[in-house]
Amino acid sequence: MTRLLLIGPPGSGKGTQAARLAETFGVPAVSTGDIFRANVKNGTALGLEAKSYMDAGEYVPDSLTNAIVHDRLQEVDASGGFLLDGYPRTAEQVAELDRLLASDGTSLDAVVQLVADPDEVVRRLLKRAVDQGRADDTEEVIRHRMALYEEQTAPLLDIYGARGLVTKVDALGDVDEVTSRILAALAERGIREPANKSAESVGSSESVA
Ligand code: AMP
Repeated sequence: MTRLLLIGPPGSGKGTQAARLAETFGVPAVSTGDIFRANVKNGTALGLEAKSYMDAGEYVPDSLTNAIVHDRLQEVDASGGFLLDGYPRTAEQVAELDRLLASDGTSLDAVVQLVADPDEVVRRLLKRAVDQGRADDTEEVIRHRMALYEEQTAPLLDIYGARGLVTKVDALGDVDEVTSRILAALAERGIREPANKSAESVGSSESVA
């Protein structure tokens, strides 16, 4: 039973590391950004509503975001733990997640903070814009997303820090190396991968989402 949360600025490699950690711990990676993108792609009502916010680099309203996480965490694969990537991003989302977990009698085990230099993450995101053609990756939108992260999401680290849950990891460098740093930091807190899993099951990826 591992319940983890990954927080870091856009371009810090959150998505890549989330997928690897989820695989290692045998839990689903729950990414609100991925859920929104899948809905945009499939043209659902949720996708239509989320798209204008995403294209502008704004946060999707808490009510909508909280509702999708509520549904996702009730799915059977999340009953044995999960790794949240990109949620919560606001204090109101923290409150909702607290309520969701408390209603199950559970709580988070750790919050991994990915630390990255702002200039470096902007450079990475501009490269991804070229490689993947993401509409939310123009320089202006990227700068806005960074500012929003600082204003709305970085303060969550104080909330979780006060609960003694935050572990900081340097997010710059080789993807494998960053994964190893995260695993080492979690092991220090007594959070280890299940015995039947091995680090070798972790795939490699160039993505920085
Ligand atoms: P991401 O892939 O996590 O960077 O998310 C892409 C976009 O989806 C963000 O820029 C937001 O517009 C939206 N989004 C993802 N997660 C959240 C969240 N927890 N709260 C609000 N908006 C979100």
